[in-house]
Amino acid sequence: TQQLLLNSEKLTIAGQLAAGIAHEVRNPLTAIKGFLQLMEAQVDNKTYFTIIQSEMERIEIILSELLLLAKPQELKFEKENLTTVIDNVKTLIDTQAIMNNIQIEIENDCEDLLIRCDKNQLKQVFINLIKNAIEAMSHGGIITIEIKQYGLDKIKIYIKDTGNGVPKQIIKRIGEPFFTTKEAGTGLGIMISKQIIENHNGKFHFWSDENGTIIEVILPIS
Ligand code: ADP
Ligand code: MG
Repeated sequence: TQQLLLNSEKLTIAGQLAAGIAHEVRNPLTAIKGFLQLMEAQVDNKTYFTIIQSEMERIEIILSELLLLAKPQELKFEKENLTTVIDNVKTLIDTQAIMNNIQIEIENDCEDLLIRCDKNQLKQVFINLIKNAIEAMSHGGIITIEIKQYGLDKIKIYIKDTGNGVPKQIIKRIGEPFFTTKEAGTGLGIMISKQIIENHNGKFHFWSDENGTIIEVILPIS
């Protein structure tokens, strides 16, 4: 337990440091982008500019994901209806799902339950997880989100996909910072999601095999 505590403390400090660095790097990046745009108008061969721009975009994506790392002092915990949070997320991500031939189905046994949470952070978690599910289902299919009460004071949320899953050899590495199997991945989504759930006194579990992936999020009921 002592070691676990030490580890989670380290992650929080590392997270804060990362968020600080991300913030500092963003300003010069914005300036460089501006000057590049000015220069672009003056050259004929745009090939290098296209590469530089797409690489800069990648840096920006990584920075904004890092900036989402939980900073406890910025969290705003309020009583929220989890159903609303999940419905909002579905609205946000539905277009992307439909474009990939994927249907998101919600099975909700707890329509009226309230949880104390920072709703933007929770949305971020579910967006990350559903995006991963979509990215794993290259042939389309159904993503199921199940919400059910667990004991008297907890709620369980399952996100199930029928995608290609994670091979056994690498499952231990899922959630390590920057560990990704995707060409354009950042490898930050799961790590950030886990950290947010832990900040909500919740639990996060990840199962995966060749039939798909199940993610379980347990949160306390308010
Ligand atoms: P990224 O999506 O940028 O790669 P994540 O932290 O979100 O980073 O995920 C890390 C890795 O975990 C992914 O690259 C992928 O290999 C694996 N993974 C996560 N979710 C799923 C899923 N639902 N199905 C299959 N693999 C997944
Ligand atoms: Mg991801």
